[in-house]
Amino acid sequence: MTFKELRQEVYETTMMLCENNLIRLSAGNISKHDGEGHIAITPASLRYDRMKPEDIPIIDLNGNIIDGERKPSSETPMHTSILREMPDIKGIVHTHSIYAIAFATTGVNLPVICVELLSVGGPVPVAPYACPGSAKAGEIAVDEFKSHPNLKCLMLRNHGLLAIGPTLYDAYQSAVNFEIGAEVFYRASQIGTPASFTNEQIEEIYRVYS
Ligand SMILES: [Zn+2]
Repeated sequence: MTFKELRQEVYETTMMLCENNLIRLSAGNISKHDGEGHIAITPASLRYDRMKPEDIPIIDLNGNIIDGERKPSSETPMHTSILREMPDIKGIVHTHSIYAIAFATTGVNLPVICVELLSVGGPVPVAPYACPGSAKAGEIAVDEFKSHPNLKCLMLRNHGLLAIGPTLYDAYQSAVNFEIGAEVFYRASQIGTPASFTNEQIEEIYRVYS
């Protein structure tokens, strides 16, 4: 995969996240690893509606710039920690989406009440707080994902959402599905008490879709 292709995929995913209202202004960040030590990651402090593919820097697994004019996202250490420690993960989407932040501020884990939350490996926990952009944020995320092997999404306390996948599109899909599930949980809670799937129902769904 060329740097141009790597940048283009991050660019297109960023635009899709903007269209879905999951990221705004310059908040949130997206990365893709080519599997050979090259990572395209969204740049720091640039409005996404003004970003072009060539604004996306290419960095190595330690966050050093390999190619490009702009500085990588301030939250690069969180991305590089995951990509270093979890070699099967090639795509990361981090959003500051509304429902993710809302639940992340309350510390309420999201139970598996719908297929969207089942698809992201729920129940989805809230990770302990770490300052955005710190190396600690990356260490916490790696610990949480490693201790929940099926989990594709993680809420970051008082911060947002982190979605990971074997491809960038998988991570994108999980970010979208999480936000749908979180909004459904919130809205359903205004009506009554949302019921989680039982273990039998979950097993049946896996049987039907496997
Ligand atoms: Zn953030």
